[in-house]
Amino acid sequence: MAKATNYEVIVIGGGHAGTEAALAAARAGARTLLVTHAIDTIGQMSCNPAIGGIGKGHLVREIDALGGAMGQAADAAGIQWRTLNARKGPAVRATRAQCDRALYRSAIRRLVEHQAGLQLFQQAVDDLIVENGRVCGVRTAMGLDFRAPCVVLTTGTFLGGRIHIGTRNQAGGRAGDAPANALAARLRELPLTVGRLKTGTPPRLDGRSMDFEQLEAQPGDEPRPVFSSLSTPADHPRQVCCFITRTNERTHEIIRSGLDRSPMYTGAIEGSGPRYCPSIEDKVVRFADKSSHQIFLEPEGLESSEWYPNGISTSLPFELQLEFVHSIPGLENAHVTRPGYAIEYDFFDPRDLLPSLESRHLPGLFMAGQINGTTGYEEAGAQGLIAGLNAARQAQEQQAWVPRRDEAYLGVMIDDLVTQGAPEPYRMFTSRAEFRLQLREDNADLRLTERGRELGLIDDRRWQAFVERREAIDAEAARLAALRIGHQSELGQRLRDGLGIPLKKDTTAEELLRRPEIDYPTLMQIEGIGPGVDRPDVAEQVGIRIRYAGYLERQQTEIERQRKAAGESIPEDFDFRVVHGLSAELTEKLERIRPPSIDQAQRIPGMTPAAISQLLVYLKRHR
Ligand code: FAD
Repeated sequence: MAKATNYEVIVIGGGHAGTEAALAAARAGARTLLVTHAIDTIGQMSCNPAIGGIGKGHLVREIDALGGAMGQAADAAGIQWRTLNARKGPAVRATRAQCDRALYRSAIRRLVEHQAGLQLFQQAVDDLIVENGRVCGVRTAMGLDFRAPCVVLTTGTFLGGRIHIGTRNQAGGRAGDAPANALAARLRELPLTVGRLKTGTPPRLDGRSMDFEQLEAQPGDEPRPVFSSLSTPADHPRQVCCFITRTNERTHEIIRSGLDRSPMYTGAIEGSGPRYCPSIEDKVVRFADKSSHQIFLEPEGLESSEWYPNGISTSLPFELQLEFVHSIPGLENAHVTRPGYAIEYDFFDPRDLLPSLESRHLPGLFMAGQINGTTGYEEAGAQGLIAGLNAARQAQEQQAWVPRRDEAYLGVMIDDLVTQGAPEPYRMFTSRAEFRLQLREDNADLRLTERGRELGLIDDRRWQAFVERREAIDAEAARLAALRIGHQSELGQRLRDGLGIPLKKDTTAEELLRRPEIDYPTLMQIEGIGPGVDRPDVAEQVGIRIRYAGYLERQQTEIERQRKAAGESIPEDFDFRVVHGLSAELTEKLERIRPPSIDQAQRIPGMTPAAISQLLVYLKRHR
């Protein structure tokens, strides 16, 4: 074992936040130790075996753009791929991969085990070592001490975890794993604000007992997308189908009959649950007028016969789970391999964190993932990367780095968490970003990789791939801007004959691509304009950049205007009560918090853009 004082960063927990944190800390050059309950569960997906989706796919691409593992692991494990919102604008297009659970876990473990500067240790952490008001190490269940100037806590649903099935409940971190109660008790003694949240998971089914004849097949999309800039679809394993079925009135009747034994309705669970991923009990009660809900049947892996019925997360008693599953077409004889359950756990109010994800109250302690009130692997992984990076930077006496809201979904999420808190489990949506046209999945690397390289997160291989892609995009965009097409020229004639586009005046290939009826592949069919680039990702980027240039410029101007306004200072003795049009509630908050700048005022929970402009107008007039 390495000398106990040898580490610069210690990460507690080997889930999605912990692995990205440990990898990022080590990539940033810190000597890092990852301490986790079980090395075999590193990268384990506790719930749905899928990565990505709307908003979440954006986070995965950003993790990848900063050199993280999630995208590469999903590429090695994705057995069904879809591009969601494919017909909508590029800002809301999102990638989702159904993953083989075992392949995902082994891909993450491989990346962790191959990371230079990162060591693993299997053991529960029971205590934090705190000296002079600063965290400086961890103590394990065996009483071993490991010391480091920075510690990243990523313990997921394990702190004070309690599993509920019907009226029965027991301590547990997730099914099959013990909770982290000693650490939870210790953390409750520290100056951290603790709350309870809950989440749930559906029963799993044996595919051999499902009637596929009655189910609607849902094949993946072709061509298949990838998450990582280092992957191609050839890296994907064998592809399979998902299936769809639906609940019915009978299912809902059975569920309603058991509400008096559902821990959510008997008051046995105090924590709030994820609004956007509700249990089937919740859906039946909240949407009482709906007679049916869709269920996606998703394979757990290529070598497994278990299926994940997405949409029927439940904590009803097991007999009722069986009964309602059997009322669903195709599942009449389904054998349940694992019961569904709800889990309640401790989380810490993220408003107690600095944007670097370091605790305001316990210097040296960084936190990431489910314990900050978020839900989902992608949200956890993204925070892990930032917490691990900043722990490494602090250990090396460098300034913290956090992307701004207009740079990354990562920045949106962290800003939301540290300013608004998490009154219910927080998950990412594209609607959370005010500048979403800039924050697309397709340009995550162009937004972040250069910065990642400066921060030491990007290795030579990834950097080389990025530089090649960026140069190819710039070169093709420049070629199209310079390619003039005379309306009476031979090329103009070919355009008329080939695409039926009459030119009234001279133009450029770039201007043609701005027309809604012409896309890049179509234009490249014209000899003299095409064949263009053979990389679809480069072609897509050039097309988007040209087509949306006007909107992007307008958004950029707005970003700069807001950035300038955010820098405006507010005098120390400013009387907020004199500002016309502020609500009594906001005036009271401003008077109490006394933000020193517009930037800080914007971050006050409940603050509205309208109130900020009133404040700005007043400040300008009375300067
Ligand atoms: P985890 O993945 O839980 O990882 C925590 C890690 O820390 C584990 O490896 C654990 O062994 C380790 N650890 C904990 N305590 C200690 C300790 N004291 N010492 C050493 N190691 C420790 N997300 C969704 O988006 N949708 C859902 O529907 C959904 N449902 C869920 C249902 C259930 C039952 C559960 C358990 C989770 C669900 N999730 C869901 C959440 C998803 O699993 C998490 O968001 C994600 O795993 C969080 O990642 P994390 O790294 O924060 O924590």
